[in-house]
Amino acid sequence: MVIDIAQIPQEGLELTLWAEPVALRLPEEGPPAQVRADALLNLTRTSQGVLAEGEVTSTLSLVCSRCSEPFAHPIREAFSVHYQRPAAGAAEEEEEVELAAEDLDTEFLEEGRLDVTALLQQNLLLALPVQPLCREGCQGLCPRCGADRNEGPCACPGPPPDPRFKILERLKGDA
Ligand SMILES: [Zn+2]
Ligand SMILES: [Zn+2]
Repeated sequence: MVIDIAQIPQEGLELTLWAEPVALRLPEEGPPAQVRADALLNLTRTSQGVLAEGEVTSTLSLVCSRCSEPFAHPIREAFSVHYQRPAAGAAEEEEEVELAAEDLDTEFLEEGRLDVTALLQQNLLLALPVQPLCREGCQGLCPRCGADRNEGPCACPGPPPDPRFKILERLKGDA
């Protein structure tokens, strides 16, 4: 969804998006997946462009980085981004731009248009976990038999020996 900022009234514009399709490249490799996101968006005109504030929510289907099980991961990300016209380079405006950049993300408007879908995409990506986990303390898979340790212990003998003990065993063997 793309908004022409000339269409935003002086008093601002409140947008509610339901199930907006957003393309995302999820942490597990592969082509970008199409996800659905809901968003609440407030657009306010500023002297240099548009301030976009809001929140995006979605539920992504991720794959656990430890046990490889798919799981649903809810995301809720608040954002505040100042979209500026690229022409905002006049000397008297510079100070104001710097001040705004301190506590706000700043982006530039392309041809006076704001790509709302790209905004949601960026913020969903920010909310993605680097190492997705299906649950806190996921036990992962057994490195020997591949069994899901969350479902209980497998038949394998204990954890692989600590390399330090191997040295001790070798020393014992030499004695
Ligand atoms: Zn897991
Ligand atoms: Zn095992």
